[in-house]
Amino acid sequence: MNDLTALAEATTAPPLLELAADFPILSRPVNGRRLAYLDNGATTQKPDAVIEAERRFYRESNANIHRGVHWLSQHATELYDAARASVQRFLNAPSADEIVFTRGTTEAINLVAQSWGRPRLTAGDEILITHMEHHSNIVPWQLLCEQTGAVLKVAAVDDKGELDLATFNALLGERTRLVAITHVSNALGTITPVAELTAKAHAAGAIVLIDGAQAVAHTKVDVQAIGCDFYAFSGHKLYAPTGIGALYGRARLLQHMPPWQGGGDMIRTVAFERTTFAPPPQRFEAGTPNIAGAIGLAAAIDYVGRVGLERIAAHEHALLLRATAALGDIPGLRIVGTARHKAGIVSFLVDGIHPHDLGTILDSEGVAIRAGHHCAMPLMARLGIPGTARASFAMYNDFADIDALVAAIRKAQDMFGTRRPR
Ligand code: PMP
Repeated sequence: MNDLTALAEATTAPPLLELAADFPILSRPVNGRRLAYLDNGATTQKPDAVIEAERRFYRESNANIHRGVHWLSQHATELYDAARASVQRFLNAPSADEIVFTRGTTEAINLVAQSWGRPRLTAGDEILITHMEHHSNIVPWQLLCEQTGAVLKVAAVDDKGELDLATFNALLGERTRLVAITHVSNALGTITPVAELTAKAHAAGAIVLIDGAQAVAHTKVDVQAIGCDFYAFSGHKLYAPTGIGALYGRARLLQHMPPWQGGGDMIRTVAFERTTFAPPPQRFEAGTPNIAGAIGLAAAIDYVGRVGLERIAAHEHALLLRATAALGDIPGLRIVGTARHKAGIVSFLVDGIHPHDLGTILDSEGVAIRAGHHCAMPLMARLGIPGTARASFAMYNDFADIDALVAAIRKAQDMFGTRRPR
């Protein structure tokens, strides 16, 4: 999959970044071992800068936003608005009004399904997704199809885990109203050509939503360069707290979308005869939002910005190459997902050891990985497997983590009597 020279260089070069000291949890032993945290696709650990930003908010600035005349409320509102501006710059969105805070990717996608899709789609309209989507980018569309009579179409994925462009092109037609695709597959690490797919979808008259859950922490995302209409991500996969994420939505679409939840903060005026709604993004943020989470997200974006996404991408690519080489060297281990363009995710199977058993043994060695279907059951069915073991990297991982992973897999093979010499 990768150029051999790069592979050789990456597997011998020292890691580019040394950041583990910024993440307090990484220094705690697990099961008496040094923790090798390789479950970053599920959630990332938090740097002190983020933990402190949340703590500082509660110690010094806590108040509800938008409603108070008192100083603290105005101060909290300013911090919340600044966090929105920070997300806007992070995604290079044209306006902060195009950033809606949500609980995460899942809520962002459901918002688009219910607010953009439900009032517009009618029987026979089509939604095009791919076979490698996370359940979060499948189920909201299935619900929408049930509600409207729209039809879900699925572009194929080949054995390497790459999107099959021929079926994508064939399924994209004049009935396609929306294309929803992942930027990076959480199960296999495949990077999809989102700008190219967006251009094709627009040419066919469809709008485009990108699921960026696995992309934002690993590559620079520019929604204007991609050209998409919606982009969803979760803060917790970007070193920020859980329960906060964002949806970028093109202003001219958001303006014509009705609210999807009603309550405080999203209204202009309320009367029993008629209620009018606030403009975006407030229209989509009913109730008290996760203020501290938004501030934590802004701190995470600052931290990532200080390290530099290009350096993070290069570092994780080195980890990916090293892990691919080291795991590929273990007899009886098969890497699942060998796309040409991959983010720092390696899914694999070990002969004779169920991924769950492997995960448990690795855990006893201090190596945290994920085992299972990775919320991508249709993809696993397509590949003919029940699940995989998955190691996913972040900026604070290093070669020692990969060495620990390899040693723990060899130990599992010893326990199962399946170890074969290299
Ligand atoms: N899409 C992808 C590709 C993901 O990896 C995830 C999380 N595993 C989600 C969507 C859902 O994210 P969240 O649970 O944070 O809403």
